[in-house]
Amino acid sequence: MLILIADAFADNLPGKLTRFGEVTQDKGLLAEADIVLVRSKTKCTREYIDQAKNLKMIIRGGVGLDNVDREYAKEKGIIVANTPQASSIAVAELAFALLLAIPNRLIEAHNSMSQGKWLNKELKRTELFGKTLGLIGIGLIGTEMAKRAQAFGMKVIAYDKYVTSSKVAQLVKSLDELLGQADYISLHTPLTDETRGMINKDIIAKMKDGAVIVNTGRGKCVIEEDVAAALKSGKLRGYGTDVWYSDPPENSPLTAAPNVIMAPHIGASSKENLLRIGDIIEERIAAFAKKK
Ligand code: NAD
Repeated sequence: MLILIADAFADNLPGKLTRFGEVTQDKGLLAEADIVLVRSKTKCTREYIDQAKNLKMIIRGGVGLDNVDREYAKEKGIIVANTPQASSIAVAELAFALLLAIPNRLIEAHNSMSQGKWLNKELKRTELFGKTLGLIGIGLIGTEMAKRAQAFGMKVIAYDKYVTSSKVAQLVKSLDELLGQADYISLHTPLTDETRGMINKDIIAKMKDGAVIVNTGRGKCVIEEDVAAALKSGKLRGYGTDVWYSDPPENSPLTAAPNVIMAPHIGASSKENLLRIGDIIEERIAAFAKKK
């Protein structure tokens, strides 16, 4: 069995997998690979899958499967798996870091001090304590986010089209209800036809003035132009994002907009998460090898 590690995983992964066969990171061997391991960089399109004549399994280390053409893989009899349970803490911690950085004005504080300025009077902060966090999507990551927000004394509400109960957040019945109450909004949905462009100018207009959005879900869940315009007008006080229309962003209006905090899609890239992902991949391959 040939296992191709196509994207960046923990350094110990090749060693963990050698008991199943040959392990390579040489992308030129795609045509011979039985199993391909990807994160988000490699796009397993129809063309990619067609090149992999021997392919029996694709494992995406991470949550979303939007970089894998699942229907075509299914047609070809290729198993597609992911590691959804591994990344929740890593992503929630980054989302929370973005949430904290905005009202604490950490980027402006750091940048101004680097420029030799002492804005001790000018940089007014606000607290998360007592504010309302609105989670859009309360699955694995949204739930971890809710727990952290509660520890900070925030009121946590959530809108999720497919979830009817939560132990950590007060569920609201509609997105509008959430928008009218939330001081901070954090996005935790997958990218689907329903969520694509979900945060647009009409939705932003229903938010509280000075609301803050954090997006560690998917870049295409927001209309970037509308978010940038709302930041310029002051309707939004801040936007913290780890996710983009494309990785890296090309001509995104957000990179030059005011009060944006940007990260290069590193939500799942904690050292601990990559080790957890490796453990789950090993289990998945062991189960596959056993069935063969
Ligand atoms: P999850 O499946 O546990 O939770 C997603 C939730 O979104 C579900 O409860 C679902 O019911 C809800 N949802 C789906 N459609 C909705 C809609 N139209 N309106 C409201 N809610 C809706 O997934 P998760 O592990 O919590 O991950 C959430 C998303 O985070 C992933 O799909 C992925 O896009 C993103 N993610 C980003 C990174 C990163 O590096 N930034 C890493 C992992 C995951």
